[in-house]
Amino acid sequence: MAKLALLGGEKVRNTPFPSHPVLGKEEKKEILEVLKTGVLSGFVAKMGDGFLGGPKVKKLEEEFCKYFNVRHAITINSATAGLHIALAATGIGPGDEVIVTPYTMSATSTSILMANAIPVFADIEDETYGLDPKKVEQAISDKTKAIIVVHLFGHPAKMDEIMAIARKHNLIVIEDCAQAPGAIYNGRFVGTIGRIGIFSFNQHKTITTGEGGVAITNDENFARRMRLIRNHAENIVDSLPEEESIVNLIGWNYRMTEIEAAIGIGQFHKLDMLTEHRIGLANYLSDGINKLKSGITPAKVSARCKSVYFVLPMRYDEEKVGIARDTFVKAVVAEGVAVAAGYAKPQHLRRTYREKIGYGSKGCPFSCPFYGKEIRYGKGMLPVAEKLYNHELLITSLCHYPLKKSDMDDIVRAFEKVLENKDDLKDIKAQQGSMVK
Ligand SMILES: *Cc1c(COP(=O)(O)O)cnc(C)c1O
Repeated sequence: MAKLALLGGEKVRNTPFPSHPVLGKEEKKEILEVLKTGVLSGFVAKMGDGFLGGPKVKKLEEEFCKYFNVRHAITINSATAGLHIALAATGIGPGDEVIVTPYTMSATSTSILMANAIPVFADIEDETYGLDPKKVEQAISDKTKAIIVVHLFGHPAKMDEIMAIARKHNLIVIEDCAQAPGAIYNGRFVGTIGRIGIFSFNQHKTITTGEGGVAITNDENFARRMRLIRNHAENIVDSLPEEESIVNLIGWNYRMTEIEAAIGIGQFHKLDMLTEHRIGLANYLSDGINKLKSGITPAKVSARCKSVYFVLPMRYDEEKVGIARDTFVKAVVAEGVAVAAGYAKPQHLRRTYREKIGYGSKGCPFSCPFYGKEIRYGKGMLPVAEKLYNHELLITSLCHYPLKKSDMDDIVRAFEKVLENKDDLKDIKAQQGSMVK
């Protein structure tokens, strides 16, 4: 038996895996067109030609509308900005509660704080790793105005059930699709089921512009307000009709540059190819890991869903495998194969929430007098998310283009080697790792 790399042996994998963004001719051609014009941003913060941005921004938005068959697409300079304008456009503000999953990238719930509202975390379920509809229903109060659903790891959340609850209680659903462009739930693209869908183009996402994102919606009024809030609405409010509400029309600068949009156009044309590649690799890797019969089980795709595999999640049964998950992760990483334990720390365990410090030092927005209630956050409140984070979840983000099946074989070999030599790891203490994207 080969000696584990963690204990000084040879690694399974000595060469780094290729990195994921695929930038080529098409992006170059689009960028050069922008450079020739000399206009790096077409935005102007007043009504008129420049209010909606330059030609590449408009083209990327048109392409999103076509692909997703929606009426409006609004580019922004991050998905974080997208979540913020979505909440602001729908009228969320001080005193309102928004229900959200704790198991997500931090911006999903901080966007609620940015809107001066109160995040109420509901636990997830362990089939999709998305919001548990039953827990959502239990979290509703007379202050609840909206739900932010996350399609985590590229797998759709349970949208039928969540939409039914939203209709019953008259709540707005915003879909955070940062990890799931092209994922399908029951015949529909995620992002088109709720009222607004948000996508991210940050460096780590399936398609990237470095930083950037898009919001999509079929709602004319929300689209108009999102465009205003993206681009200094305060400069425009005087020209709006007297009867139009200016609630939340304090604008920000969330505008995308022409260079980013140009790259986005090239990237968007590759989305389907990149996604099919991911699915092929994730299926192949899942088969390889299942064959080890080790107590590590790659997640299945739910009925009527298409996952786009932002990462491949796996369930880790500590008792069956026989070593602590975090020790296993440390040993596999030492073999040259990137896996991570438990994804990001659940949001309700972070200091921001536990200590309820947001704007200023006086507890805003948590202790806002318009809220008039006490919200609490902390350990033990969301057991499914905490259990997955602490013990049961393992992820790898290596199922991406241009990796090959032979790369997946290296991942399986690293797992196999660590499992065969697990008795050598008895004395190793591992620290919890996490992957934040
Ligand atoms: C990446 C990500 C975001 C934030 O995206 P940015 O474009 O970096 O602001 C939000 N939500 C989820 C689920 C993400 O994965």
